[in-house]
Amino acid sequence: MSVCCINGPDGRPQYALYRDGQICPLRNVIQDLADDFNLFELAAAGGLPDVSTVQPGLWSAAPDVLLPPVPKPEKVFCIGLNYRDHAIETNSPIPSEPVVFSKFNTALIGHGQSIQLPSISSKVDYEAELVVVIGRQAKNISADEALEYVFGYTCGHDVSARDWQKGRPGGQWLLGKSFDTFAPVGPCIVTRDELPDPADVRVRMKLNGEVVQDSTTAQLIFDIPTTIAHLSKFITLAPGDLIFTGTPPGVGDAKDPPVYLKPGDHCSVIIDGVGTLTNPCQ
Ligand code: ZN
Repeated sequence: MSVCCINGPDGRPQYALYRDGQICPLRNVIQDLADDFNLFELAAAGGLPDVSTVQPGLWSAAPDVLLPPVPKPEKVFCIGLNYRDHAIETNSPIPSEPVVFSKFNTALIGHGQSIQLPSISSKVDYEAELVVVIGRQAKNISADEALEYVFGYTCGHDVSARDWQKGRPGGQWLLGKSFDTFAPVGPCIVTRDELPDPADVRVRMKLNGEVVQDSTTAQLIFDIPTTIAHLSKFITLAPGDLIFTGTPPGVGDAKDPPVYLKPGDHCSVIIDGVGTLTNPCQ
């Protein structure tokens, strides 16, 4: 099933089932749903409805703008240089262990919300990524069992200010990648059972309708189970944590001449079996 997050009538984020451009708020199909329910606890308790049993009349057209499907994750992890071809195109050595950085929650936006291009950067670039949504607390787990801790998957856009990410004292990856609005995610979370083989999923970026990145997660240097197990050696993973798994070749900074985002551009992350995440640039 697919779950998205919308602005509820009370102005608070509200979870909804999502199917073929239509939504059905969870509170319309689950009786006595607490206002402050936790999606991951509800799912773990088997409390999510069977989509096929939801009556046709309960569905309505999805709004053009959605909220991030996890509005306030405890943590947002990102893996850098995780596609072999992308490491090569950026003249970087193939990493011998996952390159890990983070984004703050203030960077998160949902499908249809605008990426705000900051005045202090002139080199804002795009990166299409498959994002893992953790479903259960995980610490020191093995790669063999890692997928059992996954709730689902969504599309992510690791917007990156190259002039801050690179060539600054000490690197500054965090600042270059965590400007407000630099972490679009969505449109919804597709639960793990809908994507049985995350090791071979096509990931694309369209910039103003033109395909600029096109690869599959089969190219990952550190696959999803390895990445989750690795992170869990250091940090306790919590339900709702997001892991951006890295981007394929074709980023604008590596093109000749380079291509950077400008106001009016539209970016679409397209991941087969997961969805299409589109955001305009302002
Ligand atoms: Zn990235």
